[in-house]
Amino acid sequence: MKRAVYPGSFDPVTFGHLDVIERASQMFDELTVSVLDNKAKTPLFSVTERVKILKEATKHLQNVTVDSFNGLTIDYCKQKGVHIVLRGLRAITDFEYELQIAQTNSKLSGGEVDTVFLTTSLEYAYLSSSAVKEIASFGGDISQCVPAFLIPLIAEKYKNKF
Ligand code: ADP
Repeated sequence: MKRAVYPGSFDPVTFGHLDVIERASQMFDELTVSVLDNKAKTPLFSVTERVKILKEATKHLQNVTVDSFNGLTIDYCKQKGVHIVLRGLRAITDFEYELQIAQTNSKLSGGEVDTVFLTTSLEYAYLSSSAVKEIASFGGDISQCVPAFLIPLIAEKYKNKF
């Protein structure tokens, strides 16, 4: 059984993440998308909200489950008995950062946890959660970036800021 964990902030999930999730769901028997509860960041959506949003966005994918965790990704993987971490690569700028995390995770886990990368589909290469938030904060159009059901939820967060 091929199982993988796709960890990330997903604040909020974008078509870029969803593209990676959909393609990976065809490669693995089971994929767990897991929201990292990173105390160092002040997120737009709470972990509970992000989990709910991800569940809605992936409900058509039978072998994808959504979860959350805090602490080290490798500890979470060990606890779940999963040996593969999935990450997405957009551009060369992602590469250095991702390579370092992947190598650290491999080292820390004694080689038990490996990272698999999916490169982004070109149409989503420009997309990031931070760009979505910036556009939305100025009342811009994010319909090319996130699923339709998410647009009012994001707008609500910025309602008092206009
Ligand atoms: P983190 O804060 O852990 O980087 P993100 O939610 O920003 O979490 O991203 C999670 C993963 O998804 C990362 O591997 C990131 O490179 C990847 N990713 C983000 N946006 C895209 C995109 N547009 N296309 C493909 N992969 C992406």
